[in-house]
Amino acid sequence: MTELQSTLVDNPAAQATTPLSAGDRCDSCGAQAYVRVTIPSGSLLFCGHHAAKHKDQLFAQALTWHDETFRLSPTAPEVTID
Ligand SMILES: [Zn+2]
Repeated sequence: MTELQSTLVDNPAAQATTPLSAGDRCDSCGAQAYVRVTIPSGSLLFCGHHAAKHKDQLFAQALTWHDETFRLSPTAPEVTID
């Protein structure tokens, strides 16, 4: 497990898909973030609302589009992050 964690820290591409936590906040409104967009100049965090709003503009230039909006669905299985 320690080996995996150090790999994530040393590898930005792996960090781009690290699960989002309750401490990650939307860059537009400060709500809990459910989408992380990695673009050449950095990364952006968005709530479900703002991810949808900016998707058309950002998706084409995004290096990764890490989307956890499925967690917003009341029928989705519970995701526990310690
Ligand atoms: Zn937002």
